[in-house]
Amino acid sequence: MGIMLDEKWRKAQKTHHCSSCGATINRGEKYHWEKYADSLGLYEVKSCKGCDEAYFDVAEYVDDWQVVEDEGITFDDYERWATDADYEDTPAKKAWRQRAGVVRYEES
Ligand SMILES: [Zn+2]
Repeated sequence: MGIMLDEKWRKAQKTHHCSSCGATINRGEKYHWEKYADSLGLYEVKSCKGCDEAYFDVAEYVDDWQVVEDEGITFDDYERWATDADYEDTPAKKAWRQRAGVVRYEES
């Protein structure tokens, strides 16, 4: 992930999609907006409220697995965090799975 240039809470003027769960952010809803610069140019990341709140949980989880750091935290990391049956399930994980439409893999 590049260098963060700016971030703020915005009120959606049109429909957006959360970068971290794919959920629709409807017009009038608040979302967290971040602007980055990397070697390819500028890009924006938009997160719904739930994903923004879960961010540090996911960052901690990703840290456990020592994944490639400069990729930042992506949808895949959120998915692994929310569906990993080796870790305790939480309301935040349940909420993420509901938003993303993903099922937790239970051990059989
Ligand atoms: Zn989200």
